[in-house]
Amino acid sequence: NSTPLLVRDFTRPYQSSGGNAKPETSDGVIRVMQWNLLAQGLCQTSDAFILCPHEALDWEFRQHHLLEELLTYQASIYCLQEVDHFDFFKANLSKLGFEGVFYPKPDSPCLYEPNNDGPDGCAVFWNTAQLQLVSQDSFVLCRTSGSETNQVAIMCRFKVALGPHKGKEFVCATTHLKAKKHHAVLRGEQGLDLEQTLREKTGGLPLVLCGDFNADPDETVVQLIKNSQLNLVSAYTLLSPSQDEPHFTTWKVRGGKKGSQEESVHTIDYLFFSRDKFQCEQLLEMPTEDQLRPNFLPSYAYPSDHLSLAADFKFID
Ligand code: NDP
Ligand code: CA
Repeated sequence: NSTPLLVRDFTRPYQSSGGNAKPETSDGVIRVMQWNLLAQGLCQTSDAFILCPHEALDWEFRQHHLLEELLTYQASIYCLQEVDHFDFFKANLSKLGFEGVFYPKPDSPCLYEPNNDGPDGCAVFWNTAQLQLVSQDSFVLCRTSGSETNQVAIMCRFKVALGPHKGKEFVCATTHLKAKKHHAVLRGEQGLDLEQTLREKTGGLPLVLCGDFNADPDETVVQLIKNSQLNLVSAYTLLSPSQDEPHFTTWKVRGGKKGSQEESVHTIDYLFFSRDKFQCEQLLEMPTEDQLRPNFLPSYAYPSDHLSLAADFKFID
């Protein structure tokens, strides 16, 4: 199948001081991409995406579109979830000067699927020409009681290696919180653990925090991050005058019991940044509903049920 990948443009935030014109220079820009790229181990079994042809989810086909999506937008940092083919991405991205870290979930659901490709987890890749890794912390998120959960986070401290901000340090963190609506309390506790750890370990450095939070914008965990002393703002709220999140970051149709169909349209992926340390220069536009029709996500035109988010940041001097 030769369906081309869905390709999107970058756009300026609403009311950006530069208007709609493209920024004059990309000097000093750090581009971060957030993407739950859909574990291979889950996509052809438990996920049951009934509008997506089974062959569109074959690894032999899908791996090319996954890589194409990453490379099309040339990020400085890729924050990824549901990675169960870390070695594949590492082998390909390392040829382009990227290094990466991977942290699997303690008991990945992928491992219980037939012919699985190993556990899924979070991964971070960075462009070594632009960024030097100073240190990294990968950890299992805990409940308020202190007991470990099955979800993880990665925190990387980087030093800018070139350009006008050479030598500046910042932190980029990513996570994938527990899925399903009825686990809001658990997600709240995971968010609290993550937020406390970030406050302890970032030491006031500029921060980008992104992930699949599995929580709609009004859920406790999202409010907790938005109201945190970390002083973060959600990048994609800058796209609209009302400062609402986008209408969706995932749009899928699953097969239910007795042939029923369950449509799931949610905004659950976020890209937060330090509002007083970074300025957001551009954002990767979200597609329209029409662009996703008729198959929604995933499809031959897009390899995951989650859309990637990407933003260009500049340090505020
Ligand atoms: P998580 O919520 O972290 O992970 C569940 C994964 O399944 C996520 O990647 C999620 O994707 C995806 N998912 C969400 N909704 C659905 C859905 N309706 N259908 C299919 N997949 C979905 O949970 P845990 O890692 O804590 O694992 C819990 C689940 O994993 C259990 O419900 C069980 O099914 C399975 N499991 C089974 C084990 C066993 O057989 N003994 C052991 C461990 C796990 P997204 O974030 O994109 O929504
Ligand atoms: Ca998933």
